[in-house]
Amino acid sequence: MKSYETVIGLEVHVELSTRSKIFCSCPVSYGEEPNTKCCPVCMGLPGALPVLNREVVEYALRTCLAVNCDINKLTRFDRKNYFYPDLPKAYQISQLYEPIGRDGWLEIQAGDLDKRIRIHELHMEEDAGKLLHDPWDDQTLVDYNRCGVPLLEIVSEPDLRSAEEALIYLEKLRSILQFIDVSDCRMQEGSLRADVNVSVRPIGSEEFGTRTEMKNMNSFKAIGRAIEKESRRQIELIEEGGAIRQETRRWDENKDASFPMRSKEDAHDYRYFPDPDLTPVLISSDWIEKVREALPELPQDRRSRYILELGLAEYEADLMVSHPDLSNLFEETVKLTDKPRETASWIMGELLQLSKDKSCELAELEVEPKAFARIIIMTADGTINRITARKVLLAAIDEQVDPEEYIAKQGLAMISDTSLLEQTVAQVLADNPASVEDYRKGKTKVTGFLVGQSMRLLGGKADPQLLNKIVLVKLDNIVQN
Ligand code: ADP
Ligand code: MG
Ligand code: ZN
Repeated sequence: MKSYETVIGLEVHVELSTRSKIFCSCPVSYGEEPNTKCCPVCMGLPGALPVLNREVVEYALRTCLAVNCDINKLTRFDRKNYFYPDLPKAYQISQLYEPIGRDGWLEIQAGDLDKRIRIHELHMEEDAGKLLHDPWDDQTLVDYNRCGVPLLEIVSEPDLRSAEEALIYLEKLRSILQFIDVSDCRMQEGSLRADVNVSVRPIGSEEFGTRTEMKNMNSFKAIGRAIEKESRRQIELIEEGGAIRQETRRWDENKDASFPMRSKEDAHDYRYFPDPDLTPVLISSDWIEKVREALPELPQDRRSRYILELGLAEYEADLMVSHPDLSNLFEETVKLTDKPRETASWIMGELLQLSKDKSCELAELEVEPKAFARIIIMTADGTINRITARKVLLAAIDEQVDPEEYIAKQGLAMISDTSLLEQTVAQVLADNPASVEDYRKGKTKVTGFLVGQSMRLLGGKADPQLLNKIVLVKLDNIVQN
């Protein structure tokens, strides 16, 4: 069998978090009562005219600069005509001939390699409404709240070569969009979705194979899986002597497989033409420069700064810049602790564990930097031990307690009183003669159990190192006598 290479190009749609929609003053919202956030313009009623929201252009400019696109200073909107019940005008206002951005790129780190993924273009368009298929009543309902929500479409060149690279690219893009604050990128709410184009070709071949497209995918896991499965399907088909059809396929998460939806033969002819209701948009150099100056520090720059100036390891820096909220928490906390690595390790250890326990994203944990810093400092200086610290952190997150007050009120200060520790350990050894016997026979593992028992009797508050030492000394004393 020949060796094949997978080729992937992504069309990423991102919903902008502007206050109002792209062509009317309805609010951009999510999860509201159906059909309460719409007006004659976004519902496409006859005679209603669109007016471009300047903030959308500003967000698009910000994104163009962050992903290194050339900016088209005379950009225009076009009509993409098709009938679809969730877009009542029967056309979508989009950009085909003069998109706002072209020829950008993103650098991704795939393995040890830095790789540049080219961006073909970036354009603005309006989102459609949402169809709700009701399986019980055999009817379809439509909610127009999403109609007219501004979208950016970011189209990559077919430069990606594996599911892994595609996911790294998507994560990088999402992180940039979040840092420049143009979208919340909540995939489960559909604010970031991707059309995934996949083809395969024999390694060494210059020509691309025929591609298939899976539309509207909104989970990284599904995208990774879909690319792997689709590339395998294409390779098998070619090896059997078959040919790939250019078609749109639907990925079925439950069946872990994709199915044909429509082929190129019945592809739409969208009859694009410049929208006569909207004038071309002139973008001055002045405006571009203002946007450039106001651009916040991008995640890759923060990452370098964390490594070079704060001494973080690469994997630590990667996690710290995975979301702006997390990165801000890290920076605010470090200002107070002055211990970057210690702070990063708390985030990667305790906070990550807490987010798993609560099944939420790390960035969703609402941690006060001031309280977090106090807990880190008090653990470092021996006021409390690590077990207690976890308890205090949880209380600080769930009940917004003041760490010092909480520790005082609950009597959580670390116990370092040697005689109390010795007394407790003596009792635990007396209560567990079998374990002591095991230790005598060389099963040193039992010390862990005995330390645990002692710690439990001391309410989890003992100085762990001191306690450990006392257990060992006492055991050795018994064994030697
Ligand atoms: P269309 O306008 O029909 O959607 P484009 O040429 O604009 O097609 O490409 C859409 C997306 O498909 C782009 O992201 C591009 O990188 C990707 N693409 C194009 N050709 C291939 C191919 N042979 N294999 C994988 N992806 C491809
Ligand atoms: Mg396409
Ligand atoms: Zn409206």
